[in-house]
Amino acid sequence: LAKHKNLAIFVPHAGCPQKCSFCDQNVISETEEIPTPEKVSELCDEFLPTDTNSGKDYEIAFFGGSFTAIEEDYMISLLQVACPYVKSGRAKGIRCSTRPDAIDSHILDILKMYSVTSVELGAQSMDDEVLKKNLRGHSANDVFKASQLIKDYGFSLGLQMMTGLYGRRDYMEDALYTAGCFCKIKPDTVRIYPTITLKNTLLAHFYEKGLYKPPTLSETIEICANIVPVFEKANIKIIKLGLHADRSIEKNYVAGPYHPAFKELVESRIFFDKVKIELSNKEKGRWNIIVNEKNLSQMIGQSKENIKKFAKLGYNVKVKSNHDIKSGEFTIEKR
Ligand code: SF4
Repeated sequence: LAKHKNLAIFVPHAGCPQKCSFCDQNVISETEEIPTPEKVSELCDEFLPTDTNSGKDYEIAFFGGSFTAIEEDYMISLLQVACPYVKSGRAKGIRCSTRPDAIDSHILDILKMYSVTSVELGAQSMDDEVLKKNLRGHSANDVFKASQLIKDYGFSLGLQMMTGLYGRRDYMEDALYTAGCFCKIKPDTVRIYPTITLKNTLLAHFYEKGLYKPPTLSETIEICANIVPVFEKANIKIIKLGLHADRSIEKNYVAGPYHPAFKELVESRIFFDKVKIELSNKEKGRWNIIVNEKNLSQMIGQSKENIKKFAKLGYNVKVKSNHDIKSGEFTIEKR
């Protein structure tokens, strides 16, 4: 496994053309200071290895949603400081996340000039109706266009999507549609975030008025257990599934499928679904499921959930590990 590390520098976005339904910019701006170029230099010196051989495992990441929509001179002043760390080999590149409508040739020329290697777009949904109802301020076509331009420039492309957004009754359908569009675009990476309703947002208002009913945790796990294989099949790397366990989310939480171990729950569900299909061709009774030791807890499930579910289906299952089995795979044998 590559020991890849990001030096994440948060650049709060002061210039959003609107406020998206789920975003609480006050939480963001209250808790984070806008970094000065001096601060960026300090962070790079502190975090990046001096030995250039290890530098290939590090990236400088400007996060915060809309890096290319911030004031241009300020954006360039941050890049001017970060770029020499890439040139000297102390980092392998620079990554930034931004809005699909804040990408054009002029911006990409600047990013290229300052050694940016990866651009991530917050697409969230590829359904125009959902984008509109959540006040995203861009269309699905903007995502297609910006993605193509980013790829044409030779950047690594990342796309971010959210499940359970307001505006569609069928959350599964929206997620599968968005995942399908992403597969057509073929980004290098994706991030999948469940929508969480936070205080002081339009979504919280809709929720309180009974206009928005977020999917439950178990529905969201099911949605993600369906879209993860779509990306895996298309060879698109999932670099994030679920939100970071975050104090400001917990403090401002109103509703939604938040769980600090969300990814583990989805992986556990995926194992269950795959094994269930295999077992359905076999007689009921006692079976061993053998997985790589890294996957033991996912196969068993939280509070042995998968074992209990198999028992209900008539399969008395024991989970064992064997390091010859590849991570993510399993074999089944009669006991
Ligand atoms: S574009 Fe990003 S930072 Fe701006 S309001 Fe929307 S989610 Fe929040």
